[in-house]
Amino acid sequence: MSLVEIQERIAKAEAEAGRAPGSTELIAVSKVQPNERVQAVLEQGHRVFGENKVQEAAGKWPAFRETFAGTSVHLLGPLQTNKARQAVGLFEVIHSLDRPKLANTLARLAQELGACPDLFVQVNTGEEPQKAGILPKEADGFVKDCRDLDLPIKGLMCIPPVDEEPSLHFALLAKIAERNGLKGLSMGMSGDFEKAVSFGATHVRVGSAIFGARDYG
Ligand SMILES: *Cc1c(COP(=O)(O)O)cnc(C)c1O
Repeated sequence: MSLVEIQERIAKAEAEAGRAPGSTELIAVSKVQPNERVQAVLEQGHRVFGENKVQEAAGKWPAFRETFAGTSVHLLGPLQTNKARQAVGLFEVIHSLDRPKLANTLARLAQELGACPDLFVQVNTGEEPQKAGILPKEADGFVKDCRDLDLPIKGLMCIPPVDEEPSLHFALLAKIAERNGLKGLSMGMSGDFEKAVSFGATHVRVGSAIFGARDYG
């Protein structure tokens, strides 16, 4: 599929859901993809990208940013506290705020640097033991604690369990966001982004449908 096709499918899903055109941000997830593929999407004018790892992003985005102004890069993967300082310098948005220790570290950095990326709290909607994220029943308290730390919390993020109907998870995330007065909803990937748009996603994270399969070999 192409970037344009994905954009068209998002526009159609927005229209079908009665949402404003352009109310969903498309994050092109460029992790593991060869630079030529990423560059091709940049040359088509797209400027919003997602990465999973600090190290990988550090190796690729400073150079791309010099050529392509206005690029914003979102961190989607887990962030170790010892890489938080580097991450704050590399990303416009972090979608993986998933524990109190990271919140405290980011708050300290924000104080010291006078700036902080926009943040999404990752919620483990499927309560999967191996998956990162705040449990749904702890989300309200965690959002409050983050606000008390003056962190710029813009919304919530989830990655539904692979073998479950994602709609239930999208609906749960939307409900938690609403009762906490949060507008941002980062949800939906290559296989389910249209469904996510219908549940109110403000950010969809689409990788392989744009760039092709990732080659981890
Ligand atoms: C890799 C990844 C994506 C993109 O997945 P695709 O299935 O390639 O669209 C989205 N979100 C997160 C958190 C990811 O790690």
